Amino acid sequence: MIIDGKAIAAQVRAQVALEVGELVEQTALTPGLATVLVGEDPASAVYVAGKQRACVEVGMTPFDERLPATATFEQVAGRLQALNVDPAVSGVLLQLPLPSHLDGPSLTSLIEPGKDVDGLTAVNAGLLALGQPGLRPCTPSGVMRLLASVDAQLEGAEAVVVGRSNLFGKPMAQLLLQANATVTICHSRTGDLREVCARADILIAAVGRARLIGGEFVKPGAIVIDVGMNRLEPEQAGTKSSLVGDVDFEAAAQVAWAITPVPGGVGPMTIAMLLANTLQAARTQNDPDPPTAGAVGPGAA
Ligand code: NAP
Repeated sequence: MIIDGKAIAAQVRAQVALEVGELVEQTALTPGLATVLVGEDPASAVYVAGKQRACVEVGMTPFDERLPATATFEQVAGRLQALNVDPAVSGVLLQLPLPSHLDGPSLTSLIEPGKDVDGLTAVNAGLLALGQPGLRPCTPSGVMRLLASVDAQLEGAEAVVVGRSNLFGKPMAQLLLQANATVTICHSRTGDLREVCARADILIAAVGRARLIGGEFVKPGAIVIDVGMNRLEPEQAGTKSSLVGDVDFEAAAQVAWAITPVPGGVGPMTIAMLLANTLQAARTQNDPDPPTAGAVGPGAA
């Protein structure tokens, strides 16, 4: 089975749009998402434009904040602090990577945790580790949605996450642990990656190495989620798309029960969950005692 991330992301976005409409009707509060882009990196500009468009499509107000590549730490910090206290802004996202003279983690940590819709501040990472409600990182939340879409049995399952980044691998492992899976995290120093992966009922790859995970890494009947996004030169790609995942799709699909493609798998879920997070943040800011898991909130993942 090929898991259609585009279709599932469209369902999440439609649900967010519906709930934004209800929120506006009930409270006159329109959720707002501020993206902060420093410099003119073309890929980052494309990502930001996609987030802004998505925001408008679900009825939220976009705030497109731009600073020059020469901006100082204090200038970026000042902009983030202004957005933190702006009541029209429900969520703040600092587009990464930043120009090399700026310290990304230090600047990210300045975002007010209640507006941290990327879920990357130490406060939200800590809340996730403690199993308490908070804003969850978008891509791992999106993967939980994809797993739910195929009714994956997580309780008691062997789950293997390849990659231990703060952005994806660690929060992914935490979410799976919360769902009572038995979780193993692999990284560049793992002794026998193939052997560990081949034990997994749920195998999630987020490495950034094209087609690292071959068919022999996959347990028959497993669910395989490919988070990797690797851009290949046309002659290397050997396929129509130059974007390939960390999994050798053709080989793994022969063995797996369900698998996500690249593109069209995990990628579309990230923006969908960003919108869900912004809605959750707006609700929480509007309600001092909110339900912890809305129908589309990451808590539902
Ligand atoms: P990252 O910060 O570079 O982390 C990569 C991880 O892979 C590290 O933990 C590294 O181990 C591990 N690794 C590297 N080589 C390995 C090997 N040969 N065997 C086992 N593990 C190895 O990357 P990231 O930010 O997590 O992203 C990973 C991939 O996911 C990238 O392709 C990225 O583009 C993609 N991604 C996609 C989305 C999306 O929206 N679809 C979102 C986030 C990320 P060490 O810690 O030991 O170095």
